[in-house]
Amino acid sequence: MLTTTTPPVDLSWTAAAPPVYRSRGGEPLPDGAGASEVASEDGRGDSDVSQPVASVGSAKPIDPSDETAQSVDATSERNEPASSVDLSRSAISSASASADGDAAARGRTDDAVPATAPAARGAADEMLREQPHRRLNPLTGEWVLVSPHRAKRPWQGRVEPLAPVHRPAHDPTCYLCPGNERAGGERNPEYTGTFVFDNDFAALRPGSPDGAAADVDVDGLLVARAETGICRVICFSPRHDLSLPDMEPAAIRGVVDVWAEEYARLGSRPDIGHVQVFENKGEAMGCSNPHPHGQIWAQASVPLIAARETARMEAHHARHRRTLLSDYLRLELAAGERIVLANDGFVALVPFWAVWPFETLVVSRRPVPSLAELGDAGRDALADVVKRLTVRYDHLFGISFPYSAGLHQAPTDGRPHPEWHLHMHFLPPLLRSATVRKFMVGYEMLGEPQRDATPESAAERLRALPDVRAAGGAA
Ligand SMILES: [Zn+2]
Ligand SMILES: [Zn+2]
Repeated sequence: MLTTTTPPVDLSWTAAAPPVYRSRGGEPLPDGAGASEVASEDGRGDSDVSQPVASVGSAKPIDPSDETAQSVDATSERNEPASSVDLSRSAISSASASADGDAAARGRTDDAVPATAPAARGAADEMLREQPHRRLNPLTGEWVLVSPHRAKRPWQGRVEPLAPVHRPAHDPTCYLCPGNERAGGERNPEYTGTFVFDNDFAALRPGSPDGAAADVDVDGLLVARAETGICRVICFSPRHDLSLPDMEPAAIRGVVDVWAEEYARLGSRPDIGHVQVFENKGEAMGCSNPHPHGQIWAQASVPLIAARETARMEAHHARHRRTLLSDYLRLELAAGERIVLANDGFVALVPFWAVWPFETLVVSRRPVPSLAELGDAGRDALADVVKRLTVRYDHLFGISFPYSAGLHQAPTDGRPHPEWHLHMHFLPPLLRSATVRKFMVGYEMLGEPQRDATPESAAERLRALPDVRAAGGAA
C-alpha cells in the first residue's frame, strides 16, 4: 500500500526554514532564526564554519569546479568544495557564530551581499529568481549557468502540435516484439512480461583477463586501457505500442525487479565493477525503435559520471557520516519548491542544479546503495514514482515525452560503498514544445551548461500537471 500524496509545497523557500546566507569568504551573515538552509551560491565559502575560512582577497579561493579537470580522487579536505548540501550542521554552527559576533569579527568583503539578514535573503532570492548566476552540482562538482531573465524573451519560433502517433500492439518488423527475429538471427520468445537478452550489437564484450597487457600510456598523453563488459537489452513489455507511463504499476514493478536482478547478477561477477541501467526514449534521443525497452551496460571500470559521483559522495560521507543525498533530500523536503511528487519510498524533484529544462532526480528516502537493498514496498514505491512522473512528462507537451533516464547505484567493484545513495536521473531534451528542444551547443560545448528558466519554475510546471492518464489512454 502506497501513500501517494504530494507533500505540501511551500513556494516561498524562505518561509519555514530561513536560509543562512554567506559572503563569498564563507562567513555566515547574521540571521535570527534557526536556519536549516544555506545559499552557498558561489560555492567558494566553506559551508562548515567550524573549518578555517580562507581570508578573502588574499588566498586564492578554492573552486570545486577545478576538480572536474582533475582526477576523481578528490577526497582531501582541502579539495572538498563547500557544497550547498553541507547544510544542517553548518546552519546550526552558523547561527551560533552569528550570535557570538564571530562573523562580524571576520568582516565581510563582498559588497554584493547585503549586511542584514532580510536584505541578504531578498538579494539571494532575487538572484536565484531573476539574475544570472551559477549553481553547483554537488554530485559531480560541475556548475551550471542560470540566466532566468532570458526566460522572459519573446519566443518567435513556431510551435507545431504533433499529430498523435498510433502504433500497432505488435509490429512484425520490430526486432523486439515477441516471436520476431532479431538482426543477429535469433528469434525472440513469445514473452508476456519483460524479456532480457544480450545486445546483438554490444558496445562492450566480455574479455580475456589479461586485457591489461594491451594498455597504452605514452608520456601520460596517449593513454588507453582495454575495457570489457556485457551489454543487455530489456524489453519492458510485449506490447509494441506502450511506454512506461502507459503500463500498469504492476508491470512497471516487473521492470524494477529486472533492474534489481540484473544489477545483482551482473554486479556479482568479478569482472564487473559497475552496472549502468538506462533507457533512451524517443527519436529526439536517437532511439530508433519505439518498442518500450531499456539497456544495461555492465563493465569492468566505473565510468566517468559514476566515478565522479562516487568521489563526491565518499567525501561527504567521510565528513558527515551521512549520505550526500540524504542531506540534500532533507533540504529539498523542507523547501518544497523543487519537489514534483513523492511517496513513502521515493521523492521526485527538479534538482537545484538541473541542466536540462525539465530534468528530474528521483531519490530514495532511505540511503540504500542499490535496488538490491529494496524490499517489496520500496520497489513498488519506485514503480509508482516512475509511473506518475512519466505520466506528468507526457502531459507537459501532449506527447510521449522523450528522455534519457537511468539508475545510479553503487559500483560493484568489491569495495564497500556506505556513501552510495540510490537515485535515478531523468534527462529530457525538450524545452518549449513537442518540437523545440534544447541543444547543448556553443557556450555549453566550450564553457559550461546553461539554462534560462529556473529549476524552480520547471518544478512548478511539472507539479501542476495531472499524474494520471485522462480516461481513454495515452496523453
Ligand atoms: Zn515491438
Ligand atoms: Zn547520479
